[in-house]
Amino acid sequence: MIRACCIGWPVTHIRSPLIHGFWLAQYGIAGTYTREAVEPGDVARFLRGLEDQGLAGCNVTIPHKEAAFAAMDEVDPGAVAVGAVNTVWHEDGRLIGMNSDVVGFLKNLDDHVPGWEGEVAHALVLGAGGAARGIVHGLLSRGVPVVTLANRSPGKAEAIAAAHPSTIRTQVWQDLPAALGGVDLLVNTTSLGMTGQPPLDLPLQTLKPSAIVSDIVYVPLETDLIARAAARGHRTVEGLGMLLHQAVPGFARWFGVTPQVTSALYEHLAADVRGH
Ligand code: NAP
Repeated sequence: MIRACCIGWPVTHIRSPLIHGFWLAQYGIAGTYTREAVEPGDVARFLRGLEDQGLAGCNVTIPHKEAAFAAMDEVDPGAVAVGAVNTVWHEDGRLIGMNSDVVGFLKNLDDHVPGWEGEVAHALVLGAGGAARGIVHGLLSRGVPVVTLANRSPGKAEAIAAAHPSTIRTQVWQDLPAALGGVDLLVNTTSLGMTGQPPLDLPLQTLKPSAIVSDIVYVPLETDLIARAAARGHRTVEGLGMLLHQAVPGFARWFGVTPQVTSALYEHLAADVRGH
């Protein structure tokens, strides 16, 4: 019996057991994937004890991603870029971590708009939180020549841009409508548009018809931004696919099978999101 889990505090909102449970059943693997509430301050001890507890590894979610990063012996470049890990396993007594949000975002974009890199000369990323840092890293890793960051608190966007002065620009949040004209890919990484949050109040009239619009918010499945972009004929990319794809590297590492993100899995999770 192979065991893995997701750690957080609290853990009631965590959807990853639905994804991993679906794959365990689909591939007929004798394994479990549970939610474990780990108190802040106890993260490093829990992770150091993974092997002794009989756990192959774990996902890490809010608020533990940075503490987990600090506890790793080795991390991938995406984790370094974000300063956080969400996927952990052990190898020869060493703790290894990665940030699979980067992979998840890129795979979801690849699925919906194959070959997008060839047509994106300028990406505009809204937000400058943890998700934005990973997405900016992912876009640069695929060769996007110019990324503009706009955030309500400009200092956070400027801090990310300072690390890549030749490729990352910043944009004043209030002037966003005027800045949309030259954008090939618009990505919302803020929590605006999420159920319970205000909508992203950004007119899309100046966006060129060929622009791709992506939103990583997935509750609701179709945000107001995605609905408005789709109504204008833009190619759109919803956030749930990113959540599904970010789960792949952990499952492959722990359970030994690289799982597929299928429409049946999408529907399984979508039904849960719709129910909330
Ligand atoms: P975070 O680090 O807390 O960052 C939140 C971002 O939203 C910040 O840029 C913040 O701006 C901005 N924001 C919040 N309220 C705002 C408002 N009223 N007006 C303008 N900007 C506002 O969170 P995160 O981890 O990056 O996650 C951001 C969103 O992405 C969440 O909705 C999360 O559920 C979603 N997400 C989805 C996936 C997926 O797999 N699809 C993965 C990760 C995250 P300030 O800096 O000014 O506060």
